[in-house]
Amino acid sequence: MSTNPIHPQQAIESAYEVDIAIIGGGTTGTSAAYYAASAGYKTVLFEQYTIGNNYASSDGESRMFRIMYSDATMARLAESALGMWHEIQEYSGVTLLERDGLLFYGLPAASVEGNLEQCAQVMSSLGVPYTRYDTTALYQNYPVFQSLPADYFGLSQPSSCMIVVKNSLQTFCDLAANAGAALLTNCPATIVSAPPGGPYVISSPQGLFLAKSLIMAPGAWSNRLFSAFDIQLNLKIWQMTVVFFGVDTSLPWPMWYEFGPTVDNQQQLFYGFPPLEYPDMIKVSADFTNDIYDDPSQCTYQPDPVILRAMSNFVGQRFTGISTAPQNPITCLYTMTPDAQLVLDTLPNYSNVAVLTGESGRAFKYTPLFGRILVELATTGKSAYDISEFSINRPGIIQS
Ligand SMILES: Cc1cc2nc3c(=O)[nH]c(=O)nc-3n(C[C@H](O)[C@H](O)[C@H](O)COP(=O)(O)OP(=O)(O)OC[C@H]3O[C@@H](n4cnc5c(N)ncnc54)[C@H](O)[C@@H]3O)c2cc1C
Repeated sequence: MSTNPIHPQQAIESAYEVDIAIIGGGTTGTSAAYYAASAGYKTVLFEQYTIGNNYASSDGESRMFRIMYSDATMARLAESALGMWHEIQEYSGVTLLERDGLLFYGLPAASVEGNLEQCAQVMSSLGVPYTRYDTTALYQNYPVFQSLPADYFGLSQPSSCMIVVKNSLQTFCDLAANAGAALLTNCPATIVSAPPGGPYVISSPQGLFLAKSLIMAPGAWSNRLFSAFDIQLNLKIWQMTVVFFGVDTSLPWPMWYEFGPTVDNQQQLFYGFPPLEYPDMIKVSADFTNDIYDDPSQCTYQPDPVILRAMSNFVGQRFTGISTAPQNPITCLYTMTPDAQLVLDTLPNYSNVAVLTGESGRAFKYTPLFGRILVELATTGKSAYDISEFSINRPGIIQS
């Protein structure tokens, strides 16, 4: 249990009472706040920094939305999320999704992001349209490429797109606030008392709160909060490096992801797309890192020069019409589970405490869906969606 000078009974007598308290004001928490408040629950959200801060995972301007997964559940849930994104976009009148189309290409080998052949099979089985290209067709359709290995092939999927991060965060906050949620920023939450079943006493700079149900989407800070429930998960924090390269804007730059070969025990996974913030550049990142930590306090938030060099070498080799000088590098955090699959579940013995964690670099696209599922979990202990593969009880997740 966390140590805190406030006695739980004293807290209960003086606390603000709410139906649902949400800890974490990233994309997931803000979406959960909207769905909770609009369902009529008295809702409070705590964010220790600002919404869209530079320390957490929902940082930056853009994210990739894709249905192409080699895991059918992830693909099916992405399709559901896409419908919800379109509904919210239409309802709010704010642009949340831009630029259609995504190209996956490379080797059909297994990777942390799946396998190209299996992606094709899943798309076919779900009836999701896609186009397959051999290298000749890749060169014909994507004139930015050069030096593609002969055994590469590609899959393009037209309903993939780019999520406008800042618009999304702002929209979910606005919708949540309009529905009556209290969004408390610069307001770190500490769980003071967590008896199974609740109520949960939360201490914060804005006072004490007594919540019937709890939703936690605290990203890299998850284990700090979970200690109040006497549970720790096997989570690692990956500090990722992202960078921009100047490009010839007369060429059509796609949104792309390369599944490359393994070099020195590290599979070469790179992705990129024309970003919102710099119209004459592409944004590129490596889906691997040398900076792996146990707690966010260890993160340096310094871009890794080794990864930057790897990205420069990669783009110089793969693309024509690009400058290999890295510009404006930034970092961002993944919270990783041992099997690179996320956790979306209630805590063991706490059927009204719902968590999303270990989101492993892929949860932004599911923002509206996961917000809704977390509210279902916190209020009913179950979800209408099949989320069994995200179970907290699967092997390797809970620290023994
Ligand atoms: C480089 C990079 C590229 C990515 N690309 C994609 C992509 O293309 N597509 C995709 O779908 N996903 C992508 N992701 C993943 C996606 O961004 C994350 O999965 C998503 O942003 C996670 O959001 P979250 O709200 O769960 O967590 P976070 O954004 O980390 O939010 C958690 C929040 O909780 C707050 N918090 C923690 N503890 C407390 C406390 N005690 N009190 C109050 N507040 C607290 C933190 O300050 C933080 O703001 C990428 C991530 C990175 C880093």
